[in-house]
Amino acid sequence: MDIEAKFWVRVLLLNDVETCTLSTPCPFSVLDGQTGRQIQTPGARFDPTGVPVSIRLTDGGITIAGQTFRDSDLIIFPDNPYIFNLNGNDYRGKLRLVIHPNGRSLDAINLIPPEPYLAGVVGAEMPDYWEIEALKAQAVAARTYCFYIKKRFGANRNWDLRQTAAHQVYRGVGAESAQVWQAVNETRGQVLVCRQSDGAEAIFPAYYSSTCGGHTENSESVFGDSFEPLVGVACPYCQSVAKPKYFFWPMTQFDKEDVMAKLLRKYPNLKQLGEITGIRAAGQTDYDGFSRLTRVRLLGSAGKSDFIRAEDLRLTIDPTGRKLRSTICQIMELHDKWAFLSGRGWGHGVGMCQCGAEGMARQGRTAEQILSHYYPGSKIRTIDY
Ligand SMILES: [Zn+2]
Repeated sequence: MDIEAKFWVRVLLLNDVETCTLSTPCPFSVLDGQTGRQIQTPGARFDPTGVPVSIRLTDGGITIAGQTFRDSDLIIFPDNPYIFNLNGNDYRGKLRLVIHPNGRSLDAINLIPPEPYLAGVVGAEMPDYWEIEALKAQAVAARTYCFYIKKRFGANRNWDLRQTAAHQVYRGVGAESAQVWQAVNETRGQVLVCRQSDGAEAIFPAYYSSTCGGHTENSESVFGDSFEPLVGVACPYCQSVAKPKYFFWPMTQFDKEDVMAKLLRKYPNLKQLGEITGIRAAGQTDYDGFSRLTRVRLLGSAGKSDFIRAEDLRLTIDPTGRKLRSTICQIMELHDKWAFLSGRGWGHGVGMCQCGAEGMARQGRTAEQILSHYYPGSKIRTIDY
């Protein structure tokens, strides 16, 4: 808890809500969200130990357990052991509540030092009974990714990361275990760096995904950014770890109408195409016979066509990614549906393959070896915080 403020991670827990429920195993203070100092009004200390407290937006302020604060930005700071429960889930650190500029809703943000944050990520992103070297590789990748996103996007908003797979999954205390803490502690402060386009050494977005299907993907084809370690590498390791039904996924179909509606909601410009009459492969990578769709062409009834990244198409059609699991597949028209078949792998495929990391660890490789395989050219550096 005494780590310098600039290293704290800010995780968006609730977005756009009017109310939420808090409970703490000990008393808590209410601080000014801007200065971090305790509010000097009587009643800025609460002792509701174990009793759920309601937090709600009220006209011009935030009401906590019936007491209204005329502030738009507050921090709830629980006493040692610094744990709070928000809407049924336990988290470490502090809880910041910020009213949106329109005054109609608020965001709930978890302020937490990096290591307990990572314990809540590693245990959510990987089974904790996996090899310790795989868990350690996961901790370093997640720490690097977290600091990169924080540096790149955090300055312009009051949070750094979402707690979902849109960034990396964070489940708070519920994801922690002794093995997970061991992986986090044994890699304390470790991040990956690489040479950047200006020649300097810095962190990069150390993406990772579940199961690459046999070869990882270069970042430029998927996310449009380019870093030396984010090239595709062969992965003969994940097939023995992933369940067969996840390594090869079954054909999945989506109603054309539904696909059209989802695409238009996200990309209103596609309206000019009319009805979508064809989805064709327009770009794919080729690694010795292994290929992943990277770009598709949408053909429309108005005689026009447009291009979209295959990964964007996938997550627009199936935001959970549970059915349409990767872009290693073929697309077919089946009457009033689009069908995706011959599917392989799970996730975007860029960076470390999580099942592959476990496969390497089972063969006796260390976290360092796993990381240098999936992020070639990267180096491990330790941040001193
Ligand atoms: Zn793999």
